[in-house]
Amino acid sequence: MQEKVVFITGGSTGIGKSTAEKFSERGSTVVIGDVNVEEGQKTADELGVEFRECDVSDWESTKFVVESIVEDHGRLDVVINNAGIGSTDTIEEMSIEEWRKIMAVDLDGVMYGTKAAVPHLKETEGCVINTASIYGLVGDVGATAYNAAKGGVVNFTRSVANDLAGHNVRVNSICPGFVDTPLIQEAMADEDFKNHILGETPLGRVAEPEEVAEVMVFLASDRASYMTGANIPVDGGWTSH
Ligand code: NAD
Repeated sequence: MQEKVVFITGGSTGIGKSTAEKFSERGSTVVIGDVNVEEGQKTADELGVEFRECDVSDWESTKFVVESIVEDHGRLDVVINNAGIGSTDTIEEMSIEEWRKIMAVDLDGVMYGTKAAVPHLKETEGCVINTASIYGLVGDVGATAYNAAKGGVVNFTRSVANDLAGHNVRVNSICPGFVDTPLIQEAMADEDFKNHILGETPLGRVAEPEEVAEVMVFLASDRASYMTGANIPVDGGWTSH
């Protein structure tokens, strides 16, 4: 991982922060991009990585940050499109605004991060890793927009893997089950929801962010050199039944 320049969106907290730490420990140059400036700067200081303000739902913002990384570091090897927001609305509860917001961050954001990086990844024969979800592989109650966006990420991953295979740029996604991050704290405070989650997870617990981050590092490494177009569940067995 040394000499690799890694850009992680949504790196201020949760899975992104843990992933930043894992790459940094292995000697990579890590840049995190996030809309949460205060938390992002705090994380960057704590981990000794770089922070840049970036709104992944905005093409210009995302492209600007990617270009600035290449300008400053001369290359880009790994892009991790990880920024995301949740939604617990059913089709009847969900407003049109909510649908658009989830699509903008969780699906458009993945496309923007990938599209901005492609010219640079072709130079380095680098790779893209998208954070999808088990909710991109299966449906559940109260996740209409999130299910749709993450399902989009899963098939986007397959599609772009085909587009870029000829350039030796690999594109994969990780599909986490429930992970102990700020994203799920509110939902997990509801006992019924928590019991549903734990009941659906054969390992009987949520994941620690590190358990997802380690798979990110593997996918970016040469050890995963024959993997592209894959959507890897890291889910305690959720999608096995
Ligand atoms: P998190 O809330 O800790 O991290 C998400 C980060 O994305 C935050 O730092 C947030 O500020 C940032 N973000 C939100 N909107 C953004 C935007 N427009 N531009 C840039 N950054 C933005 O949650 P997490 O669980 O670490 O989530 C990371 C990814 O993992 C998300 O894509 C999420 O959907 C996915 N995921 C999480 C779980 C889980 O159970 N926690 C399960 C499956 C998938």
